[in-house]
Amino acid sequence: ATPTALLVGTGRGAQLGILIKGPEILEETRRVDTVVLDKTGTVTAGRMALVDVVPAAGEDADEVRRLAAAVERLAEHPIARAIAEAAPEPDRPVTRARSDNPTESTGLDRTLATGGSGVGVGADGVGVGADEVREFRADAGRGVSGVVRTAHSGVALARRVLVGRRGWLEEQGVRTDDVAAAVDAAEADGATAVVAAWDGRARGVLVLRDPVKPTSTDAVRELRALGLRPVLLTGDNRGAALATARAVGIADADVVAQVMPDEKVAAVERLQAGGARVAMVGDGVNDAAALATADLGLAMGTGTDVAIEAADLTLVRGDLASAPQAIRLSRRTLRVIR
Ligand code: ADP
Ligand code: MG
Repeated sequence: ATPTALLVGTGRGAQLGILIKGPEILEETRRVDTVVLDKTGTVTAGRMALVDVVPAAGEDADEVRRLAAAVERLAEHPIARAIAEAAPEPDRPVTRARSDNPTESTGLDRTLATGGSGVGVGADGVGVGADEVREFRADAGRGVSGVVRTAHSGVALARRVLVGRRGWLEEQGVRTDDVAAAVDAAEADGATAVVAAWDGRARGVLVLRDPVKPTSTDAVRELRALGLRPVLLTGDNRGAALATARAVGIADADVVAQVMPDEKVAAVERLQAGGARVAMVGDGVNDAAALATADLGLAMGTGTDVAIEAADLTLVRGDLASAPQAIRLSRRTLRVIR
């Protein structure tokens, strides 16, 4: 292989918005035969929208939304952004509070006062103060929790609020039977459903949708035309995963759903053990290890720095259409060399 041709190839890549870490990577790009696609933010826009709040019997949808938003405001997942954005902004200045009991967690521990409803008048005519969140913690691929303190006419109410996947809440002793039907219905309909709970009981279901990016369907078709087998890999539920897969033309059999962040690596390794040469395309913190494990890692330029660092190639535009372009570029470049 002539180094000059490889450099021309990487230079051409840069023009196309494909950043290649080293010329030798083009060789691996040419050889991959399977492409694992992360769902959220890679195939879909990664811009979840909160489309429904289903309260459990006897609960108030607005309160479910407000308390969930108070905690999610401190998190960074697309789910968190959607829930936080759907609740009104605090209309009193954000004040910082000290955490008296910091917890150990896999995520970021922060303590911040947020105002779900700001200062307003509750349904019962009682003044409701800003929600203040302590002991925030994020469990990657599972959910978030925090103690939300709300002042009601001078009386402070502290509730331990959890928002996350149903199974994760159950693991922490929260009964979710009351909301199981709402979760199942939303998931069967292709949505993402997370459960909000406090004081040990499920209080409601937040239903979110994440549209497929307009260019993803063509990109998947092109990858297939280039002889690659597309596989969809996601931490999301199977219903949402199948809906996305069908929208872009990925076979049901090639959908791997409800994968914990630490299991994404194992999913890639399983394909490799079966003889596949695997490219992985992802954007999240949760994808970084799998991007490094894959024979070729492609990060969305719109994704997290951790993913970009772990990958061999960055798709600057954050568009899946750049993935088949990268494969074609490597094949052309190496054909010239041989
Ligand atoms: P993906 O692979 O689709 O990016 P993740 O592994 O990040 O998904 O998350 C998997 C699941 O964990 C989500 O579908 C959701 O049920 C739950 N989850 C993750 N982060 C949060 C959060 N901030 N709030 C509530 N639920 C969350
Ligand atoms: Mg993602």
